[in-house]
Amino acid sequence: MAKKGVILCVCQGSCPSFHQMNIFEVLNALRREKLVDFVAIHPQLCADDGDKFFNIFLSGVDGEVEKLVIAGCDPNMQKKMFRDAFESTGFDRAKHIGVDIRNMTTEQAIEAIKKVL
Ligand code: SF4
Repeated sequence: MAKKGVILCVCQGSCPSFHQMNIFEVLNALRREKLVDFVAIHPQLCADDGDKFFNIFLSGVDGEVEKLVIAGCDPNMQKKMFRDAFESTGFDRAKHIGVDIRNMTTEQAIEAIKKVL
């Protein structure tokens, strides 16, 4: 069965935009309600090792993943930053849904992500 999951990306944890929320609780809330099949936190997906992460994580899984929500910065920025990585792994970028959760509280971030699941 096709799976959907959420990756939180948090600008290394040092950006104040992510300091009003408990990033672990955001993911725990989604897990508790069984809204997703997998969750992860990455410190900086737009860095070079973010590309490597996508290469390892997404290679060959296109048929298995129905929706990949990345919660972090602006969705349009995400589209540009991740385009090459998705292309090189063969992952259909239409399955990527970006959600901007910057400057949100834990509850606001949970609601923003739920809207796209
Ligand atoms: S992808 Fe976005 S949220 Fe993640 S580190 Fe880069 S700018 Fe920050």
